[in-house]
Amino acid sequence: MSKSLFRKELSKLQPYVPGKPIEEVQKEYGLTDVVKLASNENQLGPSPKAVEAVKNELKNLNIYPDAGAMELRHALAEKYGLEYENIVVGNGGEQVLQIIAQTFINTGDEAIMADTTFGIYSNSVTHMGGIPVEIPLTKDYKHDFKAFVENVNDKTKLIYVCNPNNPIPNIMAKEEINYLVDNVPEDVVIVFDEAYYDFARVNPDYPETLEILNKRPNTIILRTFSKVSGLAAVRVGFALTSKEIATEMSKVKGVFNVNRLAQVAALAALEDQEHIDKTVELNYKSLKIMEEAFDDLGLEYVKSNANFTWVNIGISSKDVFEELLKRGVIIRPGHLWGWDNWLRVSTGTVEQTEKFITELKNILNK
Ligand SMILES: *Cc1c(COP(=O)(O)O)cnc(C)c1O
Repeated sequence: MSKSLFRKELSKLQPYVPGKPIEEVQKEYGLTDVVKLASNENQLGPSPKAVEAVKNELKNLNIYPDAGAMELRHALAEKYGLEYENIVVGNGGEQVLQIIAQTFINTGDEAIMADTTFGIYSNSVTHMGGIPVEIPLTKDYKHDFKAFVENVNDKTKLIYVCNPNNPIPNIMAKEEINYLVDNVPEDVVIVFDEAYYDFARVNPDYPETLEILNKRPNTIILRTFSKVSGLAAVRVGFALTSKEIATEMSKVKGVFNVNRLAQVAALAALEDQEHIDKTVELNYKSLKIMEEAFDDLGLEYVKSNANFTWVNIGISSKDVFEELLKRGVIIRPGHLWGWDNWLRVSTGTVEQTEKFITELKNILNK
């Protein structure tokens, strides 16, 4: 019998299908004016303070970063009323999610999550030999917490709550979160993925999960600088959790996992409330334009508290994706998640948003 070269779990994983880069679309379709509303990026650009900090740091590229990211963790601790030992920073939220799976999952362990939700949860759990228990969304496209609770058993290690969810940008409200927390045993770790926290918190129903962490140590809150702070390129995300969990997670994080430019950029962005406020304001302006247009067109959509919309266009998302590409608008087609008639469209500037709406109308009226 010949040995199998690869870790056996890899046969269950699929390579990620990335969004098309602007440059590629420009070349392929001979366009100059292309807008990319596919990856939930910040269309205002990065925090200017972060850009300045990165410029000043360039001269130190020969020096290893601080492995403990102490300055950043202290700043985060102060902001959230925690201690630095409660915080793990990662090479993007994506790495924090991988660290979580590596920290908790043995072969055969289970992790409960929604179907549909952020793909990294099931990927990272499967990679470690764990079993993703994927619970269909409710009729309102929300996490079905009743079914989550019913599926907890002795093998359950993790529960993922993507709030707001992605690609469906609705939130789970305070009472719903409280129901989950009250009905899940304390030795199950609940992961609240709050990549869109600053967008969602303007909704008064959005929970403040720090209060949960303060009472329930087996809780992890995940946030990122990629979205509202516009730092997707440098890769910084972080977990707020108990000291015990943070200590275990730190063992597998990689020594210099957050690079020097990322650390100074995040530190500066943390102080840049003005950029955050402008970003959130533009986000809801863009969402309003889209939602009003969907209402006009009679299209079903999910009310968003993130920086993207999720709309049912009633015909093949693959076709509409292609048609939009030809017209210089890049979005994410729902068929990638098994939702054939839906589109995920990131918010943009008013101009970008209007271009998307104009082209969508052109396509649907044809
Ligand atoms: C964007 C995102 C993240 C993290 O992204 P990073 O760029 O890796 O920090 C995590 N969870 C969800 C749901 C996201 O949409």
